Amino acid sequence: MANLDASSAYALDAKDDLAHFRDKFVSRDPELIYLDGNSLGRLPRATMTRLQDLVEKEWGDRLIRGWNEGWFEMAQKVGDKIGQLIGAQPGEVIVGDSTSVNLYKLALAAVLARPNRPQIITDDLNFPSDVYILQGIAQQAPGRTVRVVHSADQIHGPVADISAALNERTALLSLSHTVFKSGYTYDLAAVSAAARDAGALTLWDFSHSVGSVPINVTEAKVDMAVGCTYKYLNGGPGAPAFLYVRRSLQEQLRNPIAGWFGQQNMFDFGLDYQPTAGIRRFMVGTPPILGLAAVDVGVNIVLEAGMAKLRQKSVQQTEYLIALYHEFLAPLGFRLNSPTEGARRGSHISIGHDEGWRINQAFIHDTHVLPDFRAPDNLRLGIAPLYTTFVDLHTAVMRLRNLVANKVYEKYDVERTAVT
Ligand SMILES: *Cc1c(COP(=O)(O)O)cnc(C)c1O
Repeated sequence: MANLDASSAYALDAKDDLAHFRDKFVSRDPELIYLDGNSLGRLPRATMTRLQDLVEKEWGDRLIRGWNEGWFEMAQKVGDKIGQLIGAQPGEVIVGDSTSVNLYKLALAAVLARPNRPQIITDDLNFPSDVYILQGIAQQAPGRTVRVVHSADQIHGPVADISAALNERTALLSLSHTVFKSGYTYDLAAVSAAARDAGALTLWDFSHSVGSVPINVTEAKVDMAVGCTYKYLNGGPGAPAFLYVRRSLQEQLRNPIAGWFGQQNMFDFGLDYQPTAGIRRFMVGTPPILGLAAVDVGVNIVLEAGMAKLRQKSVQQTEYLIALYHEFLAPLGFRLNSPTEGARRGSHISIGHDEGWRINQAFIHDTHVLPDFRAPDNLRLGIAPLYTTFVDLHTAVMRLRNLVANKVYEKYDVERTAVT
């Protein structure tokens, strides 16, 4: 990229046919550059009116009748919309519980469905919560072990070593599709095929992929998946997560948390658990209706923009940001901790620096940019193509360059705070 001055950013924004989507989101502080949409997406304006309406008219006026006026089906309806984003068929996705809990339900169900295979495989780029859950399952299900395959550079997924580790002892391969630190994205179809060839089930975490990377679980023959709705889907803090189970597998798996929402004819109130047919068997208890409504609004916006266009803009923006990094940040001691190959990259860029923590503090407090920080030295710059502009990226990099060049970060403590 030849021209990297501010005019390049304005020119790219002028040509962006998704630019108008930014107006669909609340942004009251024009100075703030928000580069953390990969941790908590912005608030859609439509969410405010939808929740206000739901609270006043549905909860307020309709009370318990609301369950027969749409609430009961909502987890599945919103699930089917998310299904469109990941290439699933209707009836293969349901929304409810957190990503962590959904991972637990599906991983344990899979392990118990493959009793003669004692091994679970994951990698050390996975989100720690995912690894904890798999380790906990290995402790609860006697004889099981977790093999955590090591990534040598801590950027790229250890694909060859994972393939080599898969064998007739493997019950489950569970990975983050796009990894939370480096933003590396696995080849979904190829890695799923390797697991399938070994007779293992696959369970993917799409938290950093859904709404940012095109996914087709049907074409890639994925068995199971989970994912988050408060990142690129803009569902709001603690919004309920989703889970996907391939239809032909659904009846073979038993939800290890047998709750009344997964029970056949739940309103018969029988005392023997009999799982209901289809994806609803993976529900547990009463779904969070307010949270589901917010997810619905967020997903509608992503569907309206279209994954193909969002991906195209995201790749263009990560490439632009990497070009800015080479020009302005690499000379100041920064390292690129994300893949250089566009096809293997999600929608965030990690850059490392020996002074990463203090630089991050100065970035937030002195320059009014919100990135996030991932230990030991990573600044994560999240691009949400629905509302991130090229000017945002250019301005953020200029602010970062100036604060490092002028050593503004030196006034900050080296101690870390609780939430980074
Ligand atoms: C964000 C994220 C989660 C979040 O899990 P919660 O249960 O919602 O806290 C899980 N896995 C991955 C890979 C994530 O990026």
